[in-house]
Amino acid sequence: MSQSSGNVLVIGGGVAGLAAAVDLSSNFFSVLLVEQKQHLGGRVFSFAHKETEDEVDNGQHLMMGCYHNALRLLDMISSLPDVSLQPALRVAFRHSEKGKTELRASSLPAPFHLLSGLLGLKSLSLPDRFSLLRVGAALMRAKPDSDERLQRMTVSEWLHSLHQSEANRKYLWDILAIGTLNDAPEHVSASLFVKVLQAAFLGKRSDSAMAIPRKGLSRIFGEPAADFLRNHGGEVRMNTAVERVVVRGKKVSEVVLSSGEVVMPDIVISSVPYFDLPRLFDEQTLQQFPEFDVERKFVSSPIVTIHLWFDNDFVSEEFVALLNSPVHWVFNKTKIFGDRGHGMFYLSLVISGAEKFMAMEKEELVALAQTELKRFFLKSRTATLLHSLVTKEKRATFSPRVGTEQFRPSHKTSLENFFLAGDWTDTKLPATIEGAVQSGFACAEAVKKMR
Ligand SMILES: Cc1cc2nc3c(=O)[nH]c(=O)nc-3n(C[C@H](O)[C@H](O)[C@H](O)COP(=O)(O)OP(=O)(O)OC[C@H]3O[C@@H](n4cnc5c(N)ncnc54)[C@H](O)[C@@H]3O)c2cc1C
Repeated sequence: MSQSSGNVLVIGGGVAGLAAAVDLSSNFFSVLLVEQKQHLGGRVFSFAHKETEDEVDNGQHLMMGCYHNALRLLDMISSLPDVSLQPALRVAFRHSEKGKTELRASSLPAPFHLLSGLLGLKSLSLPDRFSLLRVGAALMRAKPDSDERLQRMTVSEWLHSLHQSEANRKYLWDILAIGTLNDAPEHVSASLFVKVLQAAFLGKRSDSAMAIPRKGLSRIFGEPAADFLRNHGGEVRMNTAVERVVVRGKKVSEVVLSSGEVVMPDIVISSVPYFDLPRLFDEQTLQQFPEFDVERKFVSSPIVTIHLWFDNDFVSEEFVALLNSPVHWVFNKTKIFGDRGHGMFYLSLVISGAEKFMAMEKEELVALAQTELKRFFLKSRTATLLHSLVTKEKRATFSPRVGTEQFRPSHKTSLENFFLAGDWTDTKLPATIEGAVQSGFACAEAVKKMR
């Protein structure tokens, strides 16, 4: 890396780092991106399953129409055609006894499109459905960024304050809270949940629709982003870790790579997770700049995904939430990706906030998944399981517990030429692709202003 003005080093090739690098390289900065692993995308990646050669994601990722930054990134790297946005929100739910129901946005203008959808949820009694309108009214009034009472509440406490019945919580709100915040409603922050619901429910009709990746995640994020960067004069180095960020005065002076090389960029953007940030600095620098000593301020929450291949397709939906089950979602990957014609039907079963499932052996998790499928899909009883695989992401997201928001750092730091990106920084969103991309773009904006 030469020392001419506009040289930027991006540490980490997750979606936050990719967003920063793509934005800056399309604005004529000279970008070097280094990633310690052999793939780009960070927590968003896919690989080929040995036995079936199907693409397997490290865990199912859904986006929404309100992911404006993520969709812009996908557009820039020409991946948008590989993600399909529902015409309007449509989410299927299955109850083991009460059968199927759907949350479906109507053609009414926002927010009535979703309120009318909530009133159509057959898994809830009529009085319970009407009490959902209380939440709707609270969402329209809420100011989560300034309401300190809301910031002190958990999701459970907030729902209780709005007189939501146990059924409403169990069969709707808890599923949405665990799905979006990846931890139990008794732990996570009401203000972040309100922000998510406001973005999804009170925005445009298309904001609440689901955006579904139609290819393996690496073919949608990591690989096209690497092509984009190389085509715009950027350099991408995989299998290369940053070992040390050296600080002199109030600036990063040099960065030591695992290859032994020392680079002297004008600007450095770190997009590493909170638990990797302190490792970039020596003890003395951490003492001098405690803002980088963040590891103990956050708690991570895992996601477990059980991938199963059967000899027939017994799930009619593309994806469906299971009510009253340890398995939260079933994704029909054969329907989502298209049938490859090899006679195997691929399902991906997701358990979010999966702390108590992490210690379970693969065989136990597969048995649990099969039991749940038999409860919810009668036809699965005659299907034969051909292959199985379990992916466990121990630190899938940080857990957005009450009080955590105060520790999320801004993109600017005390060091003039060092910026922070990543889903855990102060995005005012939960740990999501959207938050990560937003943080990457925000760092790029800050860098552009220095020019
Ligand atoms: C199973 C699973 C399911 C999920 N589902 C959804 C979903 O449905 N919707 C959604 O929006 N979000 C979902 N998420 C969350 C989403 O994946 C993350 O919020 C997002 O990918 C975080 O991106 P990031 O760039 O901030 O961090 P990361 O992806 O963690 O990227 C950081 C990168 O930095 C690299 N790095 C660390 N240290 C160094 C170093 N010293 N030198 C070089 N490189 C380094 C790491 O290897 C990594 O690649 C899910 C996450 C998981 C794991």
